[in-house]
Amino acid sequence: MLTIKKTYTWEMGHALFKVGKEDKCYSPHGHNYRLIVEVAREDEKANPDTDMVINFHELDRYMDPLIEENDHKFYFNEDDDRFGGDDGYIALYCDPTAEALCQMLWGRLEAHFNLLREPISPYKLLPLGVKLISLELFETDKASAKIYCS
Ligand SMILES: [Zn+2]
Repeated sequence: MLTIKKTYTWEMGHALFKVGKEDKCYSPHGHNYRLIVEVAREDEKANPDTDMVINFHELDRYMDPLIEENDHKFYFNEDDDRFGGDDGYIALYCDPTAEALCQMLWGRLEAHFNLLREPISPYKLLPLGVKLISLELFETDKASAKIYCS
């Protein structure tokens, strides 16, 4: 299978709740998040018209709005009453771990990619027939969560 990957970065805050007060991740803090998106065409080859899986710039047109909506936001567990629903604060049904955030981003992307397969979709930013292969979300240079989408 032929795939391409592209890396996107943004700053975002979070606080974990289930770890308890003794764990330093309980405190509100931020990370320079890095997301590696891997995609392939449905036929798992390069498009013979372009010799590309997808133009990297076309991927940006789709990814940039997702990155923008998370940039400088703060995620927290909805059971954690230290935080409210003010602008920029986003409640999750679970702790905003790298694993949970990676799955959340995958859900958002896959929904859009499925929409993109519909010929009448208003979200025709990517060519039809491109599918997500994996997402890897780095919280630090050494720590990441990865989800395989197919
Ligand atoms: Zn953290």
